[in-house]
Amino acid sequence: MCRALAPAARLGYDRGGGSGTPEMELTQDQRREIEDLRAQTRPTRRATVAALEEILYRPIPVLDHGFVRVIDYMGDDAAIVQAARVSYGKGTKQVSTDRGLINYLMRHRHTSPFEMCEIKFHVKLPIFVARQWIRHRTANVNEYSARYSILDREFYVPDEEFLRLQKEFGRRARQAAQQLDLLGGEDSEQPAPVATAAQSRTNKQGREEVLPPEEAARVLRDIRKISQHAFTVYDRLLGEEARPGIARELARIVLPLNTYTQWYWKIDLHNLLHFLELRADPHAQFEIRAYAEVILDIVRRWVPLTAAAFEEYRMRGACLSRTALAVVRRMLRGEQVTRETSGLSAGEWRELQALLFEEP
Ligand SMILES: Cc1cc2nc3c(=O)[nH]c(=O)nc-3n(C[C@H](O)[C@H](O)[C@H](O)COP(=O)(O)OP(=O)(O)OC[C@H]3O[C@@H](n4cnc5c(N)ncnc54)[C@H](O)[C@@H]3O)c2cc1C
Repeated sequence: MCRALAPAARLGYDRGGGSGTPEMELTQDQRREIEDLRAQTRPTRRATVAALEEILYRPIPVLDHGFVRVIDYMGDDAAIVQAARVSYGKGTKQVSTDRGLINYLMRHRHTSPFEMCEIKFHVKLPIFVARQWIRHRTANVNEYSARYSILDREFYVPDEEFLRLQKEFGRRARQAAQQLDLLGGEDSEQPAPVATAAQSRTNKQGREEVLPPEEAARVLRDIRKISQHAFTVYDRLLGEEARPGIARELARIVLPLNTYTQWYWKIDLHNLLHFLELRADPHAQFEIRAYAEVILDIVRRWVPLTAAAFEEYRMRGACLSRTALAVVRRMLRGEQVTRETSGLSAGEWRELQALLFEEP
């Protein structure tokens, strides 16, 4: 099974008490640091979450060289409930269980109690993914500096295995491409669930159908070749110890967007859920979605009641416009509603049909 699409299975790797550290390209120093950190435990009166402690510091692989690991966290489901009870006081007595209260908060977009929880990740990701990720302004970020340090020869190459997923994802990619076409083919982080796929015929940014195997192999060969060459030039520009070349901050400009970078990323739970709503969604580009799905699994471990409410009301729920709601009411009364009589645009009509009649 494809690694990037099976975070649940991947997260399960250490449940049986195995060594837990997956085979991936970590430096000796990083491995030692993780082992040292995991060997230490400290007594605390603070709330901790056993399921998250289990994976603390451990890298969870994403894509071909990337990972996500939890470095620290604050709060749990109970912290959200506690904060909400402060604001509601006696009013919360009506909501008897923690689950009921969290569901209520999520349903009514009472968001500030979720800001009481924070989490800090160490993420290794390709630069083109980082560019999309960094648009989320409500996090604190500290990135690896290629001005001061030399970048490892690590670049992302899509996995040929993804090609086989065409059947599962092709339909969604085509729909999204059509939607964008209706918007005038606007420049976008186009949904592209299939990693190496043919250029969309309807949108110049999109990937629509998978390539035949021999063509896919050639594409992957080209990506590897050009990336290797860029790193060779980078090394040459840096020079050697005996004969140093140009500054690191300048040498790096020849590196491609699939080069891996790393950062620490800290965010509160409310804003993390917003990030996940946008980036664990089929409209998000496949590569950032692979990270978002791993993080969603981490959130399920950390705050299970909140994660369940989020999936129920936001991720897998839907928000209807006034006109769309009127259409649903008319349909429920047995009326035959067509696109022409609905008052919806073609795009809105298609979205409503998909929402009501297609299996997610
Ligand atoms: C599928 C997809 C396609 C995209 N395509 C493009 C594209 O083609 N081009 C492009 O440039 N971007 C694109 N984006 C990025 C997108 O426009 C947002 O910049 C990005 O998703 C961050 O969203 P956000 O601002 O809601 O999140 P955050 O920055 O995390 O902010 C969270 C929330 O905080 C509030 N907030 C934060 N900062 C401010 C502020 N300064 N002022 C007011 N409110 C604030 C807002 O309510 C915001 O929703 C795309 C994103 C997605 C998911």
